[in-house]
Amino acid sequence: MDVNFTEVISKCMSLGIMVSINQRLDAEVIELVAGEFGYEVEFLGLDDMEDEEDGEDVDAEEELEHRSPIVTIMGHVDHGKTSLLDYIRSANVVAGEAGGITQHIGAYEVSLAGDKRITFLDTPGHEAFTAMRARGAKVTDIAVIVVAADDAVMPQTKEAISHAQAAGVPMIFAVNKIDKEGANPQKIYEQLSQMNILVEEWGGKYQSQELSAKKGINVDALLEKILLEAEILDLKANPDREASGSVIEASLDKGRGYVATVLVQNGTLKVGDLMVSGQYYGRIKAMFNERNQRVNIAPPSTPVQILGLNGAPQAGEKFKVYADEGEAKDVATKRAQISREQGLRARKHITLDEIGRRLALGNFKELNIIIKGDVDGSVEALSDSLQKLSTPEIAVNVVHKAVGQISESDVLLATASDAILIGFNVRPSTQASRLADHEGVQIKMYSIIYNAIEEVKSAMEGLLEPKI
Ligand code: GDP
Repeated sequence: MDVNFTEVISKCMSLGIMVSINQRLDAEVIELVAGEFGYEVEFLGLDDMEDEEDGEDVDAEEELEHRSPIVTIMGHVDHGKTSLLDYIRSANVVAGEAGGITQHIGAYEVSLAGDKRITFLDTPGHEAFTAMRARGAKVTDIAVIVVAADDAVMPQTKEAISHAQAAGVPMIFAVNKIDKEGANPQKIYEQLSQMNILVEEWGGKYQSQELSAKKGINVDALLEKILLEAEILDLKANPDREASGSVIEASLDKGRGYVATVLVQNGTLKVGDLMVSGQYYGRIKAMFNERNQRVNIAPPSTPVQILGLNGAPQAGEKFKVYADEGEAKDVATKRAQISREQGLRARKHITLDEIGRRLALGNFKELNIIIKGDVDGSVEALSDSLQKLSTPEIAVNVVHKAVGQISESDVLLATASDAILIGFNVRPSTQASRLADHEGVQIKMYSIIYNAIEEVKSAMEGLLEPKI
Protein backbone atom coordinates (compact mmCIF):
# COMPACT_ATOMS: atom_id res chain seq x y z
CA MET A 1 0.00 0.00 0.00
CA ASP A 2 3.07 2.15 0.19
CA VAL A 3 2.11 3.30 3.70
CA ASN A 4 4.62 3.59 6.50
CA PHE A 5 4.37 0.90 9.16
CA THR A 6 3.93 3.48 11.92
CA GLU A 7 0.80 4.69 10.16
CA VAL A 8 -0.52 1.14 10.03
CA ILE A 9 0.19 0.64 13.72
CA SER A 10 -1.44 3.89 14.75
CA LYS A 11 -4.44 3.15 12.54
CA CYS A 12 -4.74 -0.23 14.27
CA MET A 13 -4.54 1.46 17.64
CA SER A 14 -7.20 3.96 16.71
CA LEU A 15 -9.39 0.97 15.90
CA GLY A 16 -8.65 -0.48 19.32
CA ILE A 17 -6.27 -3.16 18.08
CA MET A 18 -2.93 -3.21 19.88
CA VAL A 19 -0.24 -4.60 17.59
CA SER A 20 3.51 -4.73 17.30
CA ILE A 21 5.56 -4.42 14.14
CA ASN A 22 6.27 -8.11 13.66
CA GLN A 23 2.78 -9.36 14.34
CA ARG A 24 0.65 -11.21 11.85
CA LEU A 25 -2.86 -9.77 11.53
CA ASP A 26 -5.91 -11.83 10.84
CA ALA A 27 -7.82 -11.44 7.62
CA GLU A 28 -10.54 -9.28 9.06
CA VAL A 29 -8.19 -6.75 10.60
CA ILE A 30 -6.21 -6.58 7.38
CA GLU A 31 -9.38 -5.84 5.43
CA LEU A 32 -10.41 -3.24 7.92
CA VAL A 33 -7.10 -1.43 8.06
CA ALA A 34 -6.57 -1.54 4.32
CA GLY A 35 -10.07 -0.19 3.91
CA GLU A 36 -9.17 2.74 6.13
CA PHE A 37 -6.41 3.60 3.67
CA GLY A 38 -8.77 3.20 0.74
CA TYR A 39 -7.59 -0.21 -0.44
CA GLU A 40 -9.55 -3.33 -1.15
CA VAL A 41 -7.91 -6.61 -0.19
CA GLU A 42 -7.83 -9.74 -2.25
CA PHE A 43 -6.70 -12.79 -0.30
CA LEU A 44 -4.41 -15.35 -1.78
CA GLY A 45 -4.29 -17.92 1.01
CA LEU A 46 -2.20 -21.07 0.86
CA ASP A 47 -5.29 -22.93 -0.24
CA ASP A 48 -5.88 -20.41 -3.00
CA MET A 49 -2.27 -20.69 -4.02
CA GLU A 50 -2.71 -24.43 -4.24
CA ASP A 51 -5.93 -24.09 -6.15
CA GLU A 52 -4.15 -21.80 -8.53
CA GLU A 53 -1.31 -24.23 -8.94
CA ASP A 54 -3.83 -26.98 -9.55
CA GLY A 55 -5.63 -24.65 -11.91
CA GLU A 56 -2.56 -24.13 -14.02
CA ASP A 57 -2.38 -27.73 -15.03
CA VAL A 58 -6.03 -28.76 -15.05
CA ASP A 59 -6.35 -32.21 -16.52
CA ALA A 60 -7.40 -32.22 -20.14
CA GLU A 61 -10.44 -34.35 -20.90
CA GLU A 62 -8.38 -36.87 -22.89
CA GLU A 63 -6.04 -37.41 -19.93
CA LEU A 64 -8.90 -38.46 -17.67
CA GLU A 65 -9.75 -42.07 -16.98
CA HIS A 66 -12.52 -43.68 -14.99
CA ARG A 67 -11.82 -44.16 -11.32
CA SER A 68 -13.69 -46.32 -8.85
CA PRO A 69 -16.14 -44.83 -6.33
CA ILE A 70 -15.32 -44.06 -2.72
CA VAL A 71 -18.12 -44.92 -0.35
CA THR A 72 -18.99 -44.05 3.27
CA ILE A 73 -21.54 -46.04 5.24
CA MET A 74 -23.73 -44.04 7.61
CA GLY A 75 -26.82 -44.57 9.73
CA HIS A 76 -28.21 -44.91 13.23
CA VAL A 77 -26.29 -46.80 15.87
CA ASP A 78 -26.89 -50.57 15.82
CA HIS A 79 -28.55 -50.52 12.43
CA GLY A 80 -25.69 -52.56 10.97
CA LYS A 81 -22.99 -50.26 9.55
CA THR A 82 -20.09 -52.25 10.98
CA SER A 83 -21.68 -55.56 10.05
CA LEU A 84 -22.07 -54.38 6.47
CA LEU A 85 -18.46 -53.18 6.24
CA ASP A 86 -17.27 -56.45 7.78
CA TYR A 87 -19.30 -58.59 5.43
CA ILE A 88 -18.12 -56.75 2.34
CA ARG A 89 -14.54 -56.88 3.58
CA SER A 90 -14.59 -60.61 4.17
CA ALA A 91 -16.76 -61.75 1.29
CA ASN A 92 -15.43 -59.78 -1.61
CA VAL A 93 -12.00 -61.10 -2.05
CA VAL A 94 -11.91 -61.96 -5.71
CA ALA A 95 -10.92 -65.57 -6.34
CA GLY A 96 -7.22 -65.91 -6.82
CA GLU A 97 -6.40 -62.65 -5.11
CA ALA A 98 -3.72 -63.36 -2.54
CA GLY A 99 -4.60 -62.86 1.09
CA GLY A 100 -7.71 -61.40 2.67
CA ILE A 101 -7.98 -57.95 4.13
CA THR A 102 -5.84 -58.35 7.20
CA GLN A 103 -5.56 -54.91 8.69
CA HIS A 104 -7.73 -51.92 9.39
CA ILE A 105 -5.98 -48.98 7.79
CA GLY A 106 -9.02 -46.68 7.61
CA ALA A 107 -10.19 -47.67 4.15
CA TYR A 108 -10.21 -50.74 1.96
CA GLU A 109 -10.78 -51.57 -1.66
CA VAL A 110 -12.76 -54.51 -2.96
CA SER A 111 -12.57 -56.03 -6.40
CA LEU A 112 -15.70 -57.18 -8.15
CA ALA A 113 -16.46 -59.02 -11.34
CA GLY A 114 -15.51 -57.26 -14.57
CA ASP A 115 -12.50 -55.55 -13.05
CA LYS A 116 -14.71 -53.16 -11.09
CA ARG A 117 -13.60 -51.80 -7.77
CA ILE A 118 -15.14 -49.96 -4.86
CA THR A 119 -13.28 -48.24 -2.03
CA PHE A 120 -14.95 -48.15 1.37
CA LEU A 121 -14.00 -45.80 4.16
CA ASP A 122 -13.67 -48.04 7.17
CA THR A 123 -14.83 -45.57 9.81
CA PRO A 124 -18.60 -45.60 9.48
CA GLY A 125 -20.82 -42.71 10.48
CA HIS A 126 -21.56 -39.15 9.52
CA GLU A 127 -19.42 -37.72 12.33
CA ALA A 128 -16.20 -38.99 10.78
CA PHE A 129 -17.47 -37.99 7.34
CA THR A 130 -18.26 -34.41 8.37
CA ALA A 131 -15.14 -34.02 10.53
CA MET A 132 -13.08 -34.75 7.41
CA ARG A 133 -15.21 -32.39 5.38
CA ALA A 134 -14.70 -29.66 7.98
CA ARG A 135 -10.96 -30.02 7.33
CA GLY A 136 -11.60 -29.48 3.67
CA ALA A 137 -11.55 -33.05 2.40
CA LYS A 138 -14.12 -34.08 -0.16
CA VAL A 139 -13.50 -37.76 -0.09
CA THR A 140 -16.83 -39.55 -0.38
CA ASP A 141 -18.53 -40.04 -3.74
CA ILE A 142 -21.51 -42.02 -2.51
CA ALA A 143 -23.11 -42.44 0.93
CA VAL A 144 -24.84 -45.68 1.84
CA ILE A 145 -27.46 -44.97 4.51
CA VAL A 146 -28.20 -48.08 6.54
CA VAL A 147 -31.64 -48.33 8.14
CA ALA A 148 -32.72 -51.39 10.14
CA ALA A 149 -35.99 -52.70 8.76
CA ASP A 150 -37.09 -53.96 12.17
CA ASP A 151 -36.61 -50.50 13.62
CA ALA A 152 -37.37 -47.09 12.07
CA VAL A 153 -35.87 -43.94 10.63
CA MET A 154 -34.12 -42.71 13.77
CA PRO A 155 -32.52 -39.38 14.80
CA GLN A 156 -29.09 -40.40 13.56
CA THR A 157 -30.59 -41.67 10.31
CA LYS A 158 -31.95 -38.17 9.77
CA GLU A 159 -28.63 -36.65 10.77
CA ALA A 160 -26.78 -38.88 8.34
CA ILE A 161 -29.18 -37.83 5.56
CA SER A 162 -28.70 -34.11 6.35
CA HIS A 163 -24.95 -34.50 6.46
CA ALA A 164 -24.84 -36.30 3.12
CA GLN A 165 -27.21 -33.76 1.57
CA ALA A 166 -25.21 -30.82 2.91
CA ALA A 167 -22.16 -32.29 1.24
CA GLY A 168 -24.04 -32.88 -1.99
CA VAL A 169 -23.18 -36.58 -1.88
CA PRO A 170 -25.71 -38.94 -3.50
CA MET A 171 -27.30 -41.54 -1.21
CA ILE A 172 -28.25 -45.16 -1.59
CA PHE A 173 -30.44 -46.72 1.10
CA ALA A 174 -29.55 -50.11 2.55
CA VAL A 175 -32.60 -51.44 4.35
CA ASN A 176 -30.94 -53.94 6.64
CA LYS A 177 -31.92 -56.88 8.88
CA ILE A 178 -34.57 -58.22 6.51
CA ASP A 179 -33.83 -61.68 7.98
CA LYS A 180 -35.39 -60.58 11.24
CA GLU A 181 -38.92 -61.18 12.26
CA GLY A 182 -40.86 -57.94 12.23
CA ALA A 183 -38.72 -56.47 9.46
CA ASN A 184 -40.89 -54.02 7.53
CA PRO A 185 -39.07 -52.24 4.71
CA GLN A 186 -42.27 -50.53 3.51
CA LYS A 187 -42.53 -48.71 6.81
CA ILE A 188 -38.99 -47.39 6.32
CA TYR A 189 -39.80 -46.18 2.79
CA GLU A 190 -42.88 -44.45 4.14
CA GLN A 191 -40.91 -42.70 6.86
CA LEU A 192 -38.31 -41.63 4.30
CA SER A 193 -41.07 -40.28 2.08
CA GLN A 194 -42.14 -38.02 4.93
CA MET A 195 -38.69 -36.44 4.63
CA ASN A 196 -39.24 -35.96 0.89
CA ILE A 197 -37.01 -38.88 0.09
CA LEU A 198 -38.66 -41.24 -2.33
CA VAL A 199 -36.92 -44.49 -3.13
CA GLU A 200 -37.20 -45.89 -6.65
CA GLU A 201 -39.75 -48.47 -5.56
CA TRP A 202 -41.93 -45.58 -4.48
CA GLY A 203 -41.44 -43.73 -7.74
CA GLY A 204 -38.54 -41.62 -6.55
CA LYS A 205 -34.91 -41.20 -7.55
CA TYR A 206 -33.10 -42.87 -4.66
CA GLN A 207 -31.80 -46.37 -5.09
CA SER A 208 -32.44 -48.70 -2.19
CA GLN A 209 -31.67 -52.31 -1.42
CA GLU A 210 -33.24 -54.63 1.13
CA LEU A 211 -30.55 -56.85 2.61
CA SER A 212 -29.10 -58.65 5.59
CA ALA A 213 -25.57 -57.62 6.47
CA LYS A 214 -25.28 -60.39 9.02
CA LYS A 215 -26.35 -63.19 6.68
CA GLY A 216 -24.92 -61.60 3.57
CA ILE A 217 -28.27 -61.61 1.74
CA ASN A 218 -28.42 -59.18 -1.23
CA VAL A 219 -25.17 -57.44 -0.34
CA ASP A 220 -23.93 -58.14 -3.88
CA ALA A 221 -27.02 -56.36 -5.21
CA LEU A 222 -26.14 -53.31 -3.11
CA LEU A 223 -22.62 -53.33 -4.57
CA GLU A 224 -24.14 -53.42 -8.07
CA LYS A 225 -26.23 -50.37 -7.22
CA ILE A 226 -23.14 -48.55 -5.97
CA LEU A 227 -21.43 -49.27 -9.28
CA LEU A 228 -24.50 -48.05 -11.17
CA GLU A 229 -24.52 -44.80 -9.19
CA ALA A 230 -20.79 -44.42 -9.84
CA GLU A 231 -21.40 -44.84 -13.56
CA ILE A 232 -23.97 -42.06 -13.48
CA LEU A 233 -21.54 -39.84 -11.57
CA ASP A 234 -18.93 -40.50 -14.26
CA LEU A 235 -16.02 -40.34 -11.82
CA LYS A 236 -12.71 -39.56 -13.44
CA ALA A 237 -9.11 -38.80 -12.59
CA ASN A 238 -5.79 -38.49 -14.36
CA PRO A 239 -3.50 -41.35 -13.34
CA ASP A 240 -0.53 -39.83 -15.20
CA ARG A 241 0.34 -36.97 -12.89
CA GLU A 242 1.71 -36.30 -9.41
CA ALA A 243 -0.69 -37.53 -6.80
CA SER A 244 -3.01 -35.50 -4.60
CA GLY A 245 -5.66 -36.62 -2.16
CA SER A 246 -6.62 -36.75 1.50
CA VAL A 247 -5.34 -38.24 4.71
CA ILE A 248 -7.72 -40.78 6.22
CA GLU A 249 -5.83 -41.38 9.45
CA ALA A 250 -2.31 -40.99 10.80
CA SER A 251 -0.41 -42.01 13.89
CA LEU A 252 3.03 -42.60 15.33
CA ASP A 253 4.06 -46.24 15.27
CA LYS A 254 6.79 -47.32 17.68
CA GLY A 255 8.77 -49.32 15.19
CA ARG A 256 7.95 -47.63 11.89
CA GLY A 257 7.71 -43.93 12.68
CA TYR A 258 4.82 -41.86 11.36
CA VAL A 259 2.27 -43.94 9.52
CA ALA A 260 -0.53 -42.36 7.49
CA THR A 261 -3.32 -43.85 5.45
CA VAL A 262 -4.02 -41.69 2.46
CA LEU A 263 -6.57 -41.88 -0.28
CA VAL A 264 -5.27 -40.96 -3.70
CA GLN A 265 -7.90 -38.84 -5.45
CA ASN A 266 -5.97 -37.76 -8.50
CA GLY A 267 -2.68 -38.84 -10.02
CA THR A 268 -0.63 -41.85 -9.05
CA LEU A 269 1.34 -42.01 -5.82
CA LYS A 270 4.71 -43.73 -5.95
CA VAL A 271 7.34 -44.84 -3.48
CA GLY A 272 10.02 -42.15 -3.43
CA ASP A 273 7.54 -39.30 -4.03
CA LEU A 274 7.95 -36.15 -2.00
CA MET A 275 4.70 -35.42 -0.20
CA VAL A 276 3.36 -32.46 1.77
CA SER A 277 0.32 -32.76 4.01
CA GLY A 278 -0.60 -29.86 6.25
CA GLN A 279 2.59 -28.80 7.97
CA TYR A 280 4.35 -32.13 7.45
CA TYR A 281 6.34 -33.47 4.56
CA GLY A 282 8.63 -36.30 3.63
CA ARG A 283 9.70 -38.75 0.99
CA ILE A 284 7.61 -41.91 0.86
CA LYS A 285 9.78 -44.78 2.06
CA ALA A 286 7.25 -47.55 1.67
CA MET A 287 3.56 -48.15 0.91
CA PHE A 288 1.25 -50.96 2.03
CA ASN A 289 -2.26 -51.94 1.06
CA GLU A 290 -5.02 -53.23 3.36
CA ARG A 291 -3.68 -56.75 2.84
CA ASN A 292 -0.38 -55.66 4.37
CA GLN A 293 1.38 -56.15 1.04
CA ARG A 294 4.01 -53.74 -0.13
CA VAL A 295 2.96 -51.73 -3.16
CA ASN A 296 5.02 -49.37 -5.28
CA ILE A 297 2.25 -47.37 -6.90
CA ALA A 298 -1.22 -46.26 -5.89
CA PRO A 299 -3.50 -45.04 -8.72
CA PRO A 300 -6.65 -42.87 -8.18
CA SER A 301 -9.22 -44.04 -5.57
CA THR A 302 -6.68 -46.35 -3.91
CA PRO A 303 -6.15 -46.22 -0.15
CA VAL A 304 -2.59 -46.89 0.98
CA GLN A 305 -0.66 -46.74 4.16
CA ILE A 306 2.53 -44.74 3.76
CA LEU A 307 5.74 -44.37 5.73
CA GLY A 308 8.03 -41.36 5.52
CA LEU A 309 6.17 -38.22 6.65
CA ASN A 310 7.83 -36.26 9.45
CA GLY A 311 4.60 -35.99 11.47
CA ALA A 312 1.00 -37.13 11.70
CA PRO A 313 -1.40 -34.87 9.76
CA GLN A 314 -5.03 -34.72 10.86
CA ALA A 315 -7.68 -36.87 9.23
CA GLY A 316 -9.14 -34.89 6.36
CA GLU A 317 -5.95 -32.96 5.68
CA LYS A 318 -5.15 -32.80 1.99
CA PHE A 319 -1.86 -34.02 0.58
CA LYS A 320 0.04 -33.21 -2.54
CA VAL A 321 3.19 -34.48 -4.22
CA TYR A 322 5.87 -31.92 -5.06
CA ALA A 323 8.70 -32.28 -7.52
CA ASP A 324 10.91 -29.75 -5.80
CA GLU A 325 12.19 -30.45 -2.29
CA GLY A 326 12.79 -26.78 -1.48
CA GLU A 327 9.26 -25.86 -2.44
CA ALA A 328 7.79 -28.73 -0.42
CA LYS A 329 9.73 -27.70 2.68
CA ASP A 330 8.71 -24.11 2.13
CA VAL A 331 4.99 -24.84 1.97
CA ALA A 332 5.17 -27.07 5.07
CA THR A 333 7.18 -24.53 7.05
CA LYS A 334 4.90 -21.65 6.13
CA ARG A 335 1.89 -23.63 7.25
CA ALA A 336 3.55 -24.58 10.53
CA GLN A 337 4.32 -20.92 11.16
CA ILE A 338 0.78 -19.78 10.44
CA SER A 339 -0.73 -22.49 12.61
CA ARG A 340 1.62 -21.56 15.48
CA GLU A 341 0.70 -17.91 15.24
CA GLN A 342 -2.99 -18.25 14.79
CA GLY A 343 -3.61 -21.26 16.97
CA LEU A 344 -5.63 -24.02 15.45
CA ARG A 345 -8.61 -21.93 14.48
CA ALA A 346 -8.82 -22.66 10.82
CA ARG A 347 -10.91 -19.84 9.47
CA LYS A 348 -13.68 -17.57 10.51
CA HIS A 349 -17.17 -18.78 9.93
CA ILE A 350 -20.28 -16.86 9.20
CA THR A 351 -22.02 -14.97 12.02
CA LEU A 352 -25.19 -12.93 11.89
CA ASP A 353 -23.17 -9.73 12.38
CA GLU A 354 -20.92 -10.67 9.50
CA ILE A 355 -23.69 -11.05 6.94
CA GLY A 356 -23.95 -7.32 6.27
CA ARG A 357 -20.25 -7.06 5.57
CA ARG A 358 -20.21 -10.07 3.26
CA LEU A 359 -23.27 -8.70 1.49
CA ALA A 360 -21.44 -5.44 0.93
CA LEU A 361 -18.53 -7.38 -0.53
CA GLY A 362 -21.04 -8.88 -2.92
CA ASN A 363 -20.13 -12.54 -2.57
CA PHE A 364 -22.84 -13.71 -0.22
CA LYS A 365 -25.59 -15.73 -1.85
CA GLU A 366 -26.60 -18.40 0.61
CA LEU A 367 -27.27 -18.36 4.34
CA ASN A 368 -26.97 -21.87 5.77
CA ILE A 369 -28.75 -22.51 9.03
CA ILE A 370 -28.95 -25.51 11.38
CA ILE A 371 -31.90 -25.57 13.76
CA LYS A 372 -32.14 -27.56 16.97
CA GLY A 373 -35.15 -27.15 19.23
CA ASP A 374 -37.05 -28.63 22.14
CA VAL A 375 -40.17 -29.72 20.28
CA ASP A 376 -40.88 -30.67 16.71
CA GLY A 377 -43.60 -28.04 16.25
CA SER A 378 -41.33 -25.09 16.95
CA VAL A 379 -38.45 -26.53 14.91
CA GLU A 380 -40.76 -26.85 11.89
CA ALA A 381 -42.31 -23.42 12.43
CA LEU A 382 -38.93 -21.74 12.75
CA SER A 383 -37.55 -23.62 9.76
CA ASP A 384 -40.51 -22.61 7.57
CA SER A 385 -40.38 -18.96 8.61
CA LEU A 386 -36.64 -18.69 8.11
CA GLN A 387 -36.79 -20.27 4.67
CA LYS A 388 -39.48 -17.77 3.73
CA LEU A 389 -36.99 -14.98 4.38
CA SER A 390 -35.18 -16.00 1.20
CA THR A 391 -34.81 -13.18 -1.31
CA PRO A 392 -33.58 -13.25 -4.90
CA GLU A 393 -30.17 -12.22 -3.52
CA ILE A 394 -29.84 -14.59 -0.58
CA ALA A 395 -31.29 -18.05 -0.28
CA VAL A 396 -31.90 -19.23 3.26
CA ASN A 397 -31.01 -22.86 3.44
CA VAL A 398 -31.94 -25.05 6.40
CA VAL A 399 -29.14 -27.60 6.24
CA HIS A 400 -30.36 -29.66 9.18
CA LYS A 401 -33.17 -29.46 11.71
CA ALA A 402 -33.95 -31.74 14.59
CA VAL A 403 -35.23 -31.96 18.12
CA GLY A 404 -32.54 -32.15 20.78
CA GLN A 405 -29.51 -30.53 22.32
CA ILE A 406 -26.89 -28.93 20.08
CA SER A 407 -24.25 -31.63 19.66
CA GLU A 408 -20.67 -31.79 18.45
CA SER A 409 -21.91 -33.33 15.24
CA ASP A 410 -24.12 -30.24 14.66
CA VAL A 411 -21.09 -27.99 15.17
CA LEU A 412 -19.04 -30.06 12.73
CA LEU A 413 -21.79 -29.79 10.17
CA ALA A 414 -21.90 -26.03 10.73
CA THR A 415 -18.14 -25.88 10.24
CA ALA A 416 -18.23 -27.94 7.08
CA SER A 417 -21.20 -26.04 5.62
CA ASP A 418 -20.34 -22.58 6.96
CA ALA A 419 -23.68 -22.47 8.76
CA ILE A 420 -25.13 -20.63 11.73
CA LEU A 421 -26.48 -22.81 14.51
CA ILE A 422 -29.78 -21.81 16.06
CA GLY A 423 -30.96 -23.33 19.31
CA PHE A 424 -34.60 -22.86 20.19
CA ASN A 425 -35.12 -23.53 23.89
CA VAL A 426 -32.12 -25.85 23.82
CA ARG A 427 -28.48 -25.31 24.65
CA PRO A 428 -25.27 -26.78 23.33
CA SER A 429 -23.55 -29.57 25.23
CA THR A 430 -20.28 -28.61 26.90
CA GLN A 431 -18.26 -30.35 24.21
CA ALA A 432 -20.32 -28.69 21.49
CA SER A 433 -19.73 -25.24 23.04
CA ARG A 434 -16.03 -25.86 23.24
CA LEU A 435 -15.83 -27.08 19.65
CA ALA A 436 -17.91 -24.13 18.41
CA ASP A 437 -15.57 -21.78 20.19
CA HIS A 438 -12.56 -23.47 18.72
CA GLU A 439 -13.93 -23.58 15.20
CA GLY A 440 -15.38 -20.07 15.30
CA VAL A 441 -18.94 -21.25 14.71
CA GLN A 442 -21.73 -18.99 15.95
CA ILE A 443 -24.48 -20.47 18.10
CA LYS A 444 -27.54 -18.27 18.59
CA MET A 445 -30.08 -19.21 21.22
CA TYR A 446 -33.68 -18.05 21.28
CA SER A 447 -36.80 -18.78 23.23
CA ILE A 448 -39.19 -16.69 21.14
CA ILE A 449 -39.62 -17.58 17.48
CA TYR A 450 -40.39 -14.00 16.51
CA ASN A 451 -37.03 -12.82 17.90
CA ALA A 452 -35.11 -15.41 15.91
CA ILE A 453 -36.88 -14.45 12.70
CA GLU A 454 -36.47 -10.71 13.25
CA GLU A 455 -32.78 -11.04 13.99
CA VAL A 456 -32.02 -13.16 10.96
CA LYS A 457 -34.12 -10.82 8.84
CA SER A 458 -32.22 -7.73 10.04
CA ALA A 459 -28.93 -9.50 9.46
CA MET A 460 -30.00 -10.28 5.89
CA GLU A 461 -30.93 -6.68 5.33
CA GLY A 462 -27.44 -5.78 6.45
CA LEU A 463 -28.81 -3.92 9.43
CA LEU A 464 -26.77 -5.56 12.16
CA GLU A 465 -23.68 -3.57 13.02
CA PRO A 466 -20.55 -5.67 12.61
CA LYS A 467 -18.75 -5.97 15.92
CA ILE A 468 -15.05 -5.29 15.63
P1 GDP B 1 -23.63 -50.30 13.83
O1 GDP B 1 -23.71 -49.70 15.21
O2 GDP B 1 -24.53 -49.59 12.87
O3 GDP B 1 -22.23 -50.44 13.31
O4 GDP B 1 -24.29 -51.76 13.93
P2 GDP B 1 -23.58 -53.17 14.01
O5 GDP B 1 -23.07 -53.60 12.70
O6 GDP B 1 -22.65 -53.20 15.17
O7 GDP B 1 -24.85 -54.10 14.32
C1 GDP B 1 -25.61 -53.98 15.51
C2 GDP B 1 -26.23 -55.31 15.86
O8 GDP B 1 -27.15 -55.71 14.84
C3 GDP B 1 -25.21 -56.43 15.97
O9 GDP B 1 -25.57 -57.27 17.05
C4 GDP B 1 -25.33 -57.17 14.64
O10 GDP B 1 -25.00 -58.53 14.75
C5 GDP B 1 -26.80 -57.00 14.34
N1 GDP B 1 -27.06 -57.02 12.90
C6 GDP B 1 -26.45 -56.27 11.94
N2 GDP B 1 -26.95 -56.57 10.73
C7 GDP B 1 -27.86 -57.54 10.91
C8 GDP B 1 -28.73 -58.27 10.02
O11 GDP B 1 -28.73 -58.11 8.81
N3 GDP B 1 -29.56 -59.18 10.59
C9 GDP B 1 -29.59 -59.42 11.93
N4 GDP B 1 -30.44 -60.33 12.39
N5 GDP B 1 -28.79 -58.75 12.80
C10 GDP B 1 -27.94 -57.82 12.29
